Amino acid sequence: MSHPEEIGPSTRCVRATGSPCDPGQPLSPSPVLTSTYHALPLGEAGDFYGRNSNPTWRVLERALAELEHADAALVFPTGMGAITAVLRALSGGGTVLVPADGYYQTRVYAAERLAAYGIQVRSERCEAFTEAVRSLARAPQPSVVFAETPVNPTLDVLDLRATATAAREAEAMFVVDNTAATPFGQTPLDFGADLVVAAATKGLCGHSDITLGYIATNRADLAEAIALERTVSGVTTGPFEAWLAHRSLATAALRFQRQCANAQAVAEFLNGKPQVRSVRYPGLASDPSHALAARQMKGFGSLVSVTFEDMGTAQRFLARSELFAEATSFGGVHSTADRRARWGDAVPEGFLRLSIGIEDERDLLADLQRALA
Ligand SMILES: *Cc1c(COP(=O)(O)O)cnc(C)c1O
Repeated sequence: MSHPEEIGPSTRCVRATGSPCDPGQPLSPSPVLTSTYHALPLGEAGDFYGRNSNPTWRVLERALAELEHADAALVFPTGMGAITAVLRALSGGGTVLVPADGYYQTRVYAAERLAAYGIQVRSERCEAFTEAVRSLARAPQPSVVFAETPVNPTLDVLDLRATATAAREAEAMFVVDNTAATPFGQTPLDFGADLVVAAATKGLCGHSDITLGYIATNRADLAEAIALERTVSGVTTGPFEAWLAHRSLATAALRFQRQCANAQAVAEFLNGKPQVRSVRYPGLASDPSHALAARQMKGFGSLVSVTFEDMGTAQRFLARSELFAEATSFGGVHSTADRRARWGDAVPEGFLRLSIGIEDERDLLADLQRALA
């Protein structure tokens, strides 16, 4: 498959969500709702049972593969469904390295489930992650390096190219969770990742109405191993959800572009306000990750992290804002805010992860002004 860079992200989305030209047939694909298929002649490959394959998955998977610059993608009913399938399929006796400051459920799964199978699990914070990969170099068994960037929720950025190089030298599998950036923000496979995994639940589907996960890779052996894991574990997606996700992808780049512009404006507005202790956004020129982010990202994303003085100030902000709904998750069309300390993340009590929606910038800034007053 070719990935012509001259095609813009929105064109890519629209192209990836239409049907191939077939006169008289619908332009938009319909969901194929079935649990089984008429049997094929002996020896002929094709669809035979709903847990193994579905044409609506394939339509979505082709679109996701194209967006991630991959040869293949596989869909899962949630991001965690994809992540845990990857970790089960690829953990081969070596160490599994996960982010200490990243998505907490990945860390919990690695620490509590993989470790129970005798797999060595390590975690490291973003700033020391690449060095930790280098220290895997002489491990006797193949390791899995599971990275995340920008790290959710602190939004530190990991150097993808340097980490890919370190993983290659350690003969470790390099997996990147691309949930926060989306393929419009960065395409980790182009930087040397073996596999991308993500929750499309967030920005890609973007309407806060479905959960969905996927993996994408250029390595046929990995795609095959993970497809087998999906089939035997039965962690599979309903065709209707797959159709809804595919439908959402048509506007994903458009939404992302608007969210990035809004997030930049929100970050710049909040940065330096007296009620605010600190703001993290990779697009802020003053952000410690900005130079690195500018090198490897095509857009800085919809997430802005803001630390207020204390829990009370953050709660007052949430109570006064009319446009930021207090809700977990992120990447949707509605702006939301989540005080992460309530879920146990290692962040200050006044830390809010803001997810910037597609509202008008002027209205968002007016709302922030009101909420801070
Ligand atoms: C939300 C999230 C996941 C998990 O996705 P679900 O669809 O909720 O299972 C994984 N990684 C990151 C970075 C996330 O933000």
